[in-house]
Amino acid sequence: MSAIRHALSTKREDDFAQWYQEVISEAEMAEESGVRGCMVIKPWGYGIWERIQRLMDDMIKAAGVQNCYFPLFIPLSYFAKEAEHVEGFAKEMAVVTHHRLVADGKGGLVPDPEAKLEEPLIVRPTSETVIGAAMARWVQSWRDLPLLTNQWANVVRWEMRTRMFLRTSEFLWQEGHTAHADRDDAMVETLRALEMYRAFAEGPLAMPVIAGEKPENERFPGAVATYSIEAMMQDGKALQAGTSHYLGTGFAKAAGIQYQDKEGTQQYAHTTSWGTSTRMIGGLIMTHGDDDGLRVPPMVAPHQIVILPMLRENDEDEALLAYCEELRAALASQSALGEPVRVLLDKRPGKATQKRWAWVKKGAPLILEIGGRDAAGGQVSMLRRDRLWNDKAKANFVGLAREDFIARAASEIEDIQSSLFAEARAKRDANITRVTSFDEVVAFFSEDKRYPGWVEVEWARPTGDELEDAIKRLKELKLTMRNTPLDAEPVTGNCIFTGRPAVERIYVARAY
Ligand code: AMP
Repeated sequence: MSAIRHALSTKREDDFAQWYQEVISEAEMAEESGVRGCMVIKPWGYGIWERIQRLMDDMIKAAGVQNCYFPLFIPLSYFAKEAEHVEGFAKEMAVVTHHRLVADGKGGLVPDPEAKLEEPLIVRPTSETVIGAAMARWVQSWRDLPLLTNQWANVVRWEMRTRMFLRTSEFLWQEGHTAHADRDDAMVETLRALEMYRAFAEGPLAMPVIAGEKPENERFPGAVATYSIEAMMQDGKALQAGTSHYLGTGFAKAAGIQYQDKEGTQQYAHTTSWGTSTRMIGGLIMTHGDDDGLRVPPMVAPHQIVILPMLRENDEDEALLAYCEELRAALASQSALGEPVRVLLDKRPGKATQKRWAWVKKGAPLILEIGGRDAAGGQVSMLRRDRLWNDKAKANFVGLAREDFIARAASEIEDIQSSLFAEARAKRDANITRVTSFDEVVAFFSEDKRYPGWVEVEWARPTGDELEDAIKRLKELKLTMRNTPLDAEPVTGNCIFTGRPAVERIYVARAY
C-alpha cells in the first residue's frame, strides 16, 4: 500500500473524463444499471443526495413553498397545448401506449393490441403541464395567489449521450412551480429561486457559481426568460447546475389558470418553474475531487468524521473499541455548521490501510485513525481530506490529545467547508479571461491549453439571424454561450459579434 502514489489510477490532468468515472466507481457512489442511461445510486452517492435534499428542502420551505406530489404519467394532450414546450421535449419523451402484454405465440410477450391506451401517456420529463392542470382547479380568485408548490421526484428525458449524474435518462430532482397575479410578482419569484440556488451551491456545495440569464437560444421550451447558475469544473468546462424560468402567461393559457382580480375581471396567472437535479453531485465531484478521489464538503457529507480503530483481532481490540466509542459519542454531541456533528465509527473488519484508502476515496472530510497506543495515551491521529495528499500518508496525519481534538473538531469541520469553497473560487477566478474581440476568442481557445477555462465578453444581445450567426461561429470552436451575469461590471466596449456598442457581458465556454 505504501507504494501507492494516488488512490486512483487516472489523474485529472491525464484524462479528466476517465478520472471522473473512476471517482464514481472507487468512491462507490453509483454504477451502471444495465438500463441505458439509468444508474444505480449507491449509499455514499445517495447519502450525499439525501443531504442535498434535506438542506435545499429547508430553503424551499423557508420561502413559503409547499411540497406536493403529481403523477408520473402525463397525457400527451396536456403537452400538445403548449406548442413550444411539446416541440422542445418531443425528441426525448418516453411514451406508454399499452397497459397489458400478451403471449406472442413464440414464448415471448408483446403489447396486447386489445389493451392500447386511448391516449398515450408521457413519462414526465418535467411537470409544468400536469401541475398547471391542478393549478387551474386550485386558483379562482386573486386571494389564491401566489400559489407556491414544489415536488421532489424522478423525471425521464431520453438523452442520447449520457454520463453518470451529469446527464442521465432518468434523474432525481426538485421542481418548483408557482403561479402569480402579475409579471412583477412572478419575476421576483424567478429570481428568488435563482438566488436560492446560488446560495445553495456556494454554501452547502462549496461550489462557486455565476448567476445570470441564459441567452434566448438556450431558453427552456415555452419560457419567456431562463436564468441559470453556472459552475466551472476543474477541466475548465461549464456546468449548468440549476435553472429558474419565468414562463409568462403561456402555460397559464394552455392549462386555464385564471383568477378573478380585485375588480372582478378574469386574468391569466403568470407562472414560474425552477429545478436542480442529481447533476449537482456530478458538479461536486468535478469541483472538489482530486487525484485520490472525492472530497465532500462537510455540509453535504453523510459522515463528517470517520473513526477508524486499527483493530488487531486480539484482546486489545475491546479496549480500543471502547475508547473509540466514547470518542464518537463525545464528537456526536458537538455541533458544527449549525447541525449535530455526523460521526461514524467504522468497526468493520479489514486492514486499517485499506479502510483508510476507502474513506480517502470517498472523501470523508475528517478521518481519525486510532491505534492501541493512541487509546492508551489518550491521543487521536487526524487526517484532513481537503489538505494536499501525497504518497507520504503518515506525514498528513496530525497527532493530537483527545481533548484537544474534541475541542477543535467543530472548527476543523467549518474550516474544511470554507477552505474547499475558497480553493474552488480561486481556481475558477484564475480561469476566467476577459477578451474584447472574436479573434481573441479564437486565439484563446486554439492555443494549446489542456483545460482553457471561460472567456468573458461583451455583446449587443443580437437576435434573429445575427444571433444564429454568433451561435454558429461559437459552435465551430465547440463553444456555447453560458449566461449574462446579474452582477456584472458595466460594459465598456463593443459587441464581439456585431461590432455595435455592447449592452451586457456574457460568458462563453465549452460545456457539459
Ligand atoms: P430544466 O427543467 O431543463 O430547466 O432542467 C432543470 C435542471 O435539471 C437543469 O438545470 C439541470 O441542472 C438538470 N438537468 C437537466 N437535464 C438533466 C439530465 N438529463 N440529467 C441530470 N440533470 C439534468
